[in-house]
Amino acid sequence: MKIIADYHMHSKYSGDSKNEMEDIIKKAVAMGLKEIAITDHGPAHDGYGIKRSDYPKIKAEIDALKPKYPQINIRLGLEANILGTEGKIDVTEEMKSIIEWTNAGYHFGSDITHDIGIHFLNFMSKFSKNARRKAIKQNTKAMVNAMRNNDITMITHPGDKGPIDIEEVAMVAAETNTILEINQSHGHLSVAEIQVALKYDVKFAINSDAHTIENIGRVDKAVERAKIAGVPEDKIVNLGR
Ligand SMILES: [Zn+2]
Ligand SMILES: [Zn+2]
Repeated sequence: MKIIADYHMHSKYSGDSKNEMEDIIKKAVAMGLKEIAITDHGPAHDGYGIKRSDYPKIKAEIDALKPKYPQINIRLGLEANILGTEGKIDVTEEMKSIIEWTNAGYHFGSDITHDIGIHFLNFMSKFSKNARRKAIKQNTKAMVNAMRNNDITMITHPGDKGPIDIEEVAMVAAETNTILEINQSHGHLSVAEIQVALKYDVKFAINSDAHTIENIGRVDKAVERAKIAGVPEDKIVNLGR
């Protein structure tokens, strides 16, 4: 399985990465990638989120680099935060008008003021079966509503940082034409989750979620999970053919 695109990576505009845009592109080209989406954390994350005011700056920076690297297609993306349980994500109308690839995922630390209860339940789900049951209900509802209410290209690391009912998530991903991610940097989707998702007409993407330059395009562990789970190659959107 040879990956020719990487649709999940972070730059210095995320609080948890120092990657310069041009270094990202150079590494992606060196890795033989034909397309990337640079997907910094949505602004509603108190620790890692981009500054809303930086967004036009990010676009200008990417636009200026595009002509220098015609061998690769560079998309300006975002890793939006799934907020609350009613299907909200932190993409403003202005951002929507310039985004070319919309990832969305659940993260601890997003919109602390409103979502502290959600984060607490997900934390407790590691220690209590009852909390886990409730957390699965809550996270699944949030993810399903987010897919139904927004034009999301891909759900990042489904089930990481908060447990989900993969059966329902995969069903709605198929219905809304949303890609599910097999993420190199996190253990989700896991082999077992991929196998459940395969019951539905879902597409997958295998991505690095790189926060450092050396990890751009690095997907060996995620590819291994896809192989073990037996994902047909035509269900993976970023494979070379
Ligand atoms: Zn993430
Ligand atoms: Zn990420």
